[in-house]
Amino acid sequence: MEVRLEGITKSFGDFTAVNNLNVTIDDGTLAGLLGPSGCGKSTTLYMIAGLEKPTSGRIYFGDEDVTDLPPEKRGIGLVFQNYALYPHMTVRQNIMFPLENAKVPKAEALKTAQEMADLVQIGHLMDRKPGELSGGQQQRVAIARAIAKKPRVLLLDEPLSNLDARLRLETREEIRRIQQETGITTIFVTHDQEEAMSITDTIVLMKDGVLQQKEAPQEMYRKPANQFVASFMGTPPMGFLTGKVENHKIMIGSSVLSEMEAADGEVIIGVRPESWRLSEHEGMDATVTMVEVIGRDTLMTVEVEGQKIRCLIDSDYEVKVSDKVKLAVKPQAIHLFDKTSGHRLG
Ligand code: ATP
Repeated sequence: MEVRLEGITKSFGDFTAVNNLNVTIDDGTLAGLLGPSGCGKSTTLYMIAGLEKPTSGRIYFGDEDVTDLPPEKRGIGLVFQNYALYPHMTVRQNIMFPLENAKVPKAEALKTAQEMADLVQIGHLMDRKPGELSGGQQQRVAIARAIAKKPRVLLLDEPLSNLDARLRLETREEIRRIQQETGITTIFVTHDQEEAMSITDTIVLMKDGVLQQKEAPQEMYRKPANQFVASFMGTPPMGFLTGKVENHKIMIGSSVLSEMEAADGEVIIGVRPESWRLSEHEGMDATVTMVEVIGRDTLMTVEVEGQKIRCLIDSDYEVKVSDKVKLAVKPQAIHLFDKTSGHRLG
């Protein structure tokens, strides 16, 4: 089911948590609502769920305007970060609960519960209580319960945040698999860009209640719409230098970084740390100011024309503080942003 937000605004008193959001999530896809703490992603999810009412704007599931429908009439499945399982019920009873509420006959509810449990690979744990399960298993029960009624849309609020690092990796793959097997349009909230990058079809990136970019993960990484998106997507984050374009030359102070097609003027130059390479002959002169070896890579900070930037290089290069190096970068790895608005140029 396609989910469409048209001009959605949510205010709490005179504070605007979500500001004129226009977004379409395609039918059958997995979308991530991403952004830093307080950007309005949970509020957006709650409005899609019907738990919060927009101050203005409309929400559509396919052609149906659901803006005024209560949550139980929307045909959604919801999974919260704390799973909200009933502790005194078994796994089977937990998954069956929404079915029994909907007066589904017992035999059919039992069969569906088993199917859902098998789908999320906890079919062998049906007689356990939530307290006897690991965090990852509890999360699967919550998902099985949320999809038991075959929802039109599955909504997950930070579903992985209570899991340890290893389980988080495993469970996010699991969410992807379940989404693909069921084909349910799924929207999940996360503040972790890597999590969003790894499993979604589309990322909806917000900041201060405002949509920054909606795009497939790779495309957003390759062509960030503005300086905020550029710095949010990728670890270590993109570095920025202030410079100018003059006769197709990208200049930082009096150093020429590269030559490329671009309009003359002052710009912000963005380069991902891994895009830099050390060069013997060409490139800009830089001085190493900090060196940190992280596995097979070395993360070094260099100073160029009084500005600092981080470069990720192969640990085979032995560099130390105060070394003079030459740095080069391919033109296609250079991102230019407007100095005032931060918007991508070109
Ligand atoms: P987090 O990752 O920290 O959960 P978020 O992006 O999900 O952040 P929201 O929970 O949507 O952010 O909140 C967005 C903004 O709206 C925040 O500044 C929050 O304080 C504010 N807010 C949310 N709910 C209410 C409320 N009921 N009353 C007043 N302000 C609220």
